[in-house]
Amino acid sequence: MHAEDVPLPRIAEEVGTPVYVYSRATLERHARVFNEALAPLGDPLIAFAVKSNPNLAVLNVLQKQGFGADVVSGGELRRALAAGIAPAKIVFSGVGKTRAELELGLDEEIGQFNIESREEGHELAEIAASRGIEAQACLRVNPDVDAKTHEKISTGKAENKFGVPLMRARETFDELAALEGMNLRGVAIHIGSQLADLEPLETAFAKVGQLVADLRAAGHTITHVDLGGGLGVPYRKGEILPSPAEYGAMVARATAGWDVKLTFEPGRVIAGNAGVLLTRVVRVKRGGNGPPFVIVDAAMNDLARPALYGAWHDFDAVEPSGERMTANIVGPICETGDTFATDRDCDALRSGDLAVFRTAGAYGATMASSYNSRGFVAEVLVDGDRFAVVADRIDAGAIMDAERVPDWL
Ligand SMILES: *Cc1c(COP(=O)(O)O)cnc(C)c1O
Repeated sequence: MHAEDVPLPRIAEEVGTPVYVYSRATLERHARVFNEALAPLGDPLIAFAVKSNPNLAVLNVLQKQGFGADVVSGGELRRALAAGIAPAKIVFSGVGKTRAELELGLDEEIGQFNIESREEGHELAEIAASRGIEAQACLRVNPDVDAKTHEKISTGKAENKFGVPLMRARETFDELAALEGMNLRGVAIHIGSQLADLEPLETAFAKVGQLVADLRAAGHTITHVDLGGGLGVPYRKGEILPSPAEYGAMVARATAGWDVKLTFEPGRVIAGNAGVLLTRVVRVKRGGNGPPFVIVDAAMNDLARPALYGAWHDFDAVEPSGERMTANIVGPICETGDTFATDRDCDALRSGDLAVFRTAGAYGATMASSYNSRGFVAEVLVDGDRFAVVADRIDAGAIMDAERVPDWL
């Protein structure tokens, strides 16, 4: 198995395992396909959701494709800038932006704040006014739509913490738009992630369209609408999800006549299938009640999605023998939750073999922790027949070096 033209065993040899491996060509292809699908909508801003893969090299690749960035913390904002993304193409989302983060966004003159509450709007306007400037902003609304995805990544239902309830949107917009220091110029939504169906998105977009009409009727100037991210990707071989082209066609239908600059915030659909997590089998443990345990050197601290969401990742041998087995795929961490798959039909594997978890380019390395003092996983970017380590492995010793035992102990 190769990543582009680089044999994966070479990467394992030189960098060690576990390691995330990203393909530049795939990132670029996904960016191009997304750009082309939305090109008929005028000149939309495509702001990559940095939280899905914040690696500087990945951001750099996407910046070269004309992407902006959707950031949800000061740390992500700094990464986007470090990757050369123009401040004007940066959108700052998130329900708990601190005062320091709002100030940072204003310092850097970012293109758009997506305000998630009237309280946040007041704070942002006050800071901007005290500097004699205006914050460029959209109001994030919660359309109360069931995105029909995993409950932990659903963000657009009334009971979720995100955005202002649609019912309150008019009065909140009136109030915030009137503030000195505020240029409230549109609305934003993001209803959830890994959406396998376009229908909830279309329903939400229709509600936004109605809101835009209502706001205009009330005398507001609406020039921007941010439609968020959320398009799902196939995690299982053979699974079919809506394509960017189908998504683009739906958006064109839903937004016909809006006459606004549109923003999109795709994450997973760009990065998900552009990366794998390369791992080595530590040993195969047999003799229990069920199928054998294939114990790999990657764990829930490196790839959290299966433990967090019960998510599925295809798992394949790097050098398959042609034989198959049924196994439980687990990591070494001392938690039963450190299970990647149960009763999985997979390539037959033995101690020392290499394997990959596929579709690990989004919400993979970015969610890593050092639980069980395992350190932080390394990341590699492949480009044709060359590759580079784009994030060093941070070993447990380096993390320990940041700890102190007070001298009064
Ligand atoms: C997470 C997030 C996204 C990206 O979601 P994907 O499913 O990865 O496309 C976009 N916008 C906001 C506000 C988010 O929180």
